[in-house]
Amino acid sequence: MNHYPASIRKVINHLNKLPGIGLKTAERLAMHLLSAPESEVFELSRSIGELKKTIRLCSQCFALSDSGLCRICGNPSRDNTLICVVENQADMVAIEKSGAFTGVYHILHGLLSPMDNIGPDDIRIKELLSRIGQGNIREVVIATPTNVEGEATASYLSDCLVRFNITITRIASGVPMGGELKYVDQVTLKKAMEARHAI
Ligand SMILES: [Zn+2]
Repeated sequence: MNHYPASIRKVINHLNKLPGIGLKTAERLAMHLLSAPESEVFELSRSIGELKKTIRLCSQCFALSDSGLCRICGNPSRDNTLICVVENQADMVAIEKSGAFTGVYHILHGLLSPMDNIGPDDIRIKELLSRIGQGNIREVVIATPTNVEGEATASYLSDCLVRFNITITRIASGVPMGGELKYVDQVTLKKAMEARHAI
């Protein structure tokens, strides 16, 4: 590392902090950036800089979005009466890729975990309940993972949701116990969504 000038060391250090980027890869990327056209490097740094400024959470489903409403919530051909509840953005993307779901989402941004002191107020449960309270929801599919926290969250949610006149379903097995949705293949996920059951 000391063989590089300070400005290159700085870039290498920053890249090295990214997940999955070891020192060797960071060095290679820094060298690549040095030899890439200036406009490309500038565009990359500008888009990274803007990321924090422009990305916000969708006001309805709490997905990452460039605008007030995300592309899914703002799409009139999606079924607004069907809400799929997921732990995070990555799980939403996994379900979207499966193509099995035509409704809208609600991103909890976490799961209940008493061990880690994460309770109902720490994730977006209140927002989900107020969204359903506004009416016009027919079904809520709970697609939290099948691990301990995912199951605890699903059971808490179904307890909260019984007071509404809606169908509550849980994503079906096929999703392995303890499995995270983002690691499940698309066919399995599609089948699990299609075979969801009432809880
Ligand atoms: Zn949205």
